[in-house]
Amino acid sequence: MELVVVMRSTATADDKAAVEQRMADMGLAAHRADGEFRTMISAVGTIAVDSTQQLEQLVGVDRVIAVTQPYRLASRELHEADTIIDIKGIRVGGPHVNVIAGPCAIESRDLLFEVGKAVKDAGASILRGGAFKPRSSPYSFQGLGLDGLKLLAEAGNELNMPTITEVTDPRDVEVVAQYADIFQIGARNMQNFNLLLEVGKTDKPVFIKRGMSATITELLMSAEYVLSQGNHRVILCERGIRTFADEVRFTLDVSAVPVIQQRSHLPVFVDPSHAAGKRDLVPALALAGVVVGAAGVIVEVHSCPEKALCDGPQAVLPARFRKLMEELRQVAELAGHRVTAWGDKNSSHRRVESGGWMS
Ligand code: PEP
Ligand code: MN
Repeated sequence: MELVVVMRSTATADDKAAVEQRMADMGLAAHRADGEFRTMISAVGTIAVDSTQQLEQLVGVDRVIAVTQPYRLASRELHEADTIIDIKGIRVGGPHVNVIAGPCAIESRDLLFEVGKAVKDAGASILRGGAFKPRSSPYSFQGLGLDGLKLLAEAGNELNMPTITEVTDPRDVEVVAQYADIFQIGARNMQNFNLLLEVGKTDKPVFIKRGMSATITELLMSAEYVLSQGNHRVILCERGIRTFADEVRFTLDVSAVPVIQQRSHLPVFVDPSHAAGKRDLVPALALAGVVVGAAGVIVEVHSCPEKALCDGPQAVLPARFRKLMEELRQVAELAGHRVTAWGDKNSSHRRVESGGWMS
């Protein structure tokens, strides 16, 4: 078990040293982390109940927490309130429900702007578009790369929407940061630890998709890699896992949403598009995600999916997306609850945010 002593912001250097000394006397190897606002002193080992109570009484100690999970910065045990991330004025997490939409891949300027305008008009708050596509086959379209990033930045500026795009290689982190507002870590790269460390060194939000065979704990450990580098702007995404169900591309694990919310303060989205693999199933899964408390959905939209270079069968048409936005707004109002760490219902009001009508 791990013990974390959270110091008060007013604690002095002597107070901190006294806590470290006391832990050493208890036979614990203390590790100190000086944050911007607070210092945390932690130790792993066999910890007696008395030790917790004794440490709690030392001068400058705010509280002592016993961490039972392998992740800690991602855990609600250390950070009880929902994390809310501000991305160019769009708030993600807590009571806010956001819709990210756009094409799977940036194929051309015309397509990106056409779809971008359509999703913006319908009320999506963040624009998606892949420039580096991690395809299962090396012979499939791999994305436009840098040219795609430039188009995405142009569309984001013109439409006044923050943008998200996938980064697949630690060497591309710098260039992607220049052009996009949010890093997407794809399901296939969820455990690319060097990539996670690299995006963790930036100050841009990181949207981590659950690997198709990853457990929830593994997803939270991936978040921990980013958080451990000082980047606290992490968003998680359930995008479907492998099961024996073969009618859909992947099985959307809706239970992952409340389970993650119990264990972590980080916002969690669902991706109905990659889970369904078929456009006619996307609206139902998107609504299901919001009903179970997701902080938002990420949806692939294409104006001519039969010509799409990537993921055409799962792309919804702009008209259907517009209708889905209306349905999502209604469901978010109705399902105005979040499951808390204790399984209680917390009746904070939730609504779908949009670039269009969010004040
Ligand atoms: C995508 O968002 O286009 C994508 C490739 O998703 P995933 O990593 O979940 O397969
Ligand atoms: Mn896709």
